[in-house]
Amino acid sequence: MRKIEKDFYQIPKNLKDCAKNNESHLLESKEVNADCYKKAKDDLEKLYHKKCAYCESKYQTTSSTWIEHYRPKKARENKEKPEYNHSGYHWLAYEWSNLLPTCENCNRPKSNKFPLLDESQRVKEPTLLSDGKMDKSKNLLNETPLKNELAMIINPEIDEPIDFFFLK
Ligand SMILES: [Zn+2]
Repeated sequence: MRKIEKDFYQIPKNLKDCAKNNESHLLESKEVNADCYKKAKDDLEKLYHKKCAYCESKYQTTSSTWIEHYRPKKARENKEKPEYNHSGYHWLAYEWSNLLPTCENCNRPKSNKFPLLDESQRVKEPTLLSDGKMDKSKNLLNETPLKNELAMIINPEIDEPIDFFFLK
């Protein structure tokens, strides 16, 4: 894994437009329109040179990019490890800073896992403005309240991956 410089404010236009049109439905129903986040695919592939954000392997020519939601859109309900259960982050489904291009081998096992160092900091719902729309500034992964969660999965756009590797 290597550091990737992504400008969280330079949202691809087609993603931004789709997110805007689908925001109220997303908030009301918690139903995610996959067509929306898939619009980020080309921009993510370009940024990552067609490599997986986690393991850096080139995608197989037979399998396309899997758009990963770093913060999972769906809840985790694991009876054996309930300490990491959460109610999901559906409102981040179209959030540019939450989308990573990954290979199938990384995407499948990661699934909806999202362990935190401090469970009491977990964000359970979006911050809304007085007009009922989302406060997008609170959806940025590198800003409060999300950064305070202290996620236990390294994010190549936020963390400095080299800090987490040690040579013996
Ligand atoms: Zn991978």
